Amino acid sequence: MTKAESVISAVIPVFNEEDNLKALIGRLQPVMRSLGRPYEIVMIDDGSRDGSLAILKDLARENPELRVVELTRNYGQHAAIMAGFSIVRGDIVITLDADLQNPPEEIPRLVAEMENGGYDVVGTIRRRRRDSAFRLGASRLINIVARRITGVHMTDWGCMLRAYRRPVVERMRDCHEHATFIPALATAFAKRLTEIEVAHEERHGGKSNYPLRKLINLQFDLVASFSDFPMKMLMYGGILMSILGVCFGAFLAVARLAYGAHWAAQGVFTLFAVLFVFVGLQFFALGVIGEYIGRIYREVRRRPEYVIENIHGGRDRSGS
Ligand code: UDP
Ligand code: MG
Repeated sequence: MTKAESVISAVIPVFNEEDNLKALIGRLQPVMRSLGRPYEIVMIDDGSRDGSLAILKDLARENPELRVVELTRNYGQHAAIMAGFSIVRGDIVITLDADLQNPPEEIPRLVAEMENGGYDVVGTIRRRRRDSAFRLGASRLINIVARRITGVHMTDWGCMLRAYRRPVVERMRDCHEHATFIPALATAFAKRLTEIEVAHEERHGGKSNYPLRKLINLQFDLVASFSDFPMKMLMYGGILMSILGVCFGAFLAVARLAYGAHWAAQGVFTLFAVLFVFVGLQFFALGVIGEYIGRIYREVRRRPEYVIENIHGGRDRSGS
């Protein structure tokens, strides 16, 4: 396929973004047009409670390139993007946020980097991030954790302005994972990854949809969906505790022989040593059981991750 034939898709999750949608499409359309090839825009209304859906439907009427996926309720940013992936037609798929924190003007650079370098995934690093100090600190921590868990060196996992090649999108789509973290999931299916620096802007309007609680949940998704690290800690902790118990017992035995019966408070300490060994073994056993449960958990994750209520707009005019 020549470059001119490859279709570019933009996938944008929308949750309570009524102040930003018109400005977004106003900036996105000229950029997409400037690529000089077929393109589409897929916006997913993730159960917005403001006027976002109505605005999106209007926009879909005016912009034949735009299709709007309406979800039944709020499923979260990553599930919404997955819903977008399920109908996307592009050979190169770009994800970005609806609040204009990711400038659409960067899209041509992402596409160029992907095509010229033959990459499967192009990530981004936010130059001069416009977020609060707290968010910056939290992100730094998350980036370290994500790097360890996936074993892939990406500098900035949080930035959703990313480009994926179609096969990567299809494989992610086939995963049917319930709680997921798309940039991390993509690394499981991409051979060639790179990162480029992009600009970052203040939120155009409205306020962030990520209060602390959601942020913590998202991080837990990242850790629990991509690693069994917490379970391994339980097992290793148990083994360590048992070993310490045995060492403590040996020490008591030696001290008892050297200093006599009254030194060890008539055997009370020995009880502690025995206790440590058994508590340690229990933790270990829990870890082993956890390992099996973890495997079951991985097997049963076949639940639908989202339910699409309707698809609006698009050239073929199916749906309303
Ligand atoms: N979003 C979503 N569902 C949610 C939360 C957020 O689709 O439950 C979308 C939101 O509309 C935006 C993107 O995800 O397009 C990023 O959200 P936000 O800007 O609130 O996150 P932040 O930039 O503060 O990390
Ligand atoms: Mg934002």
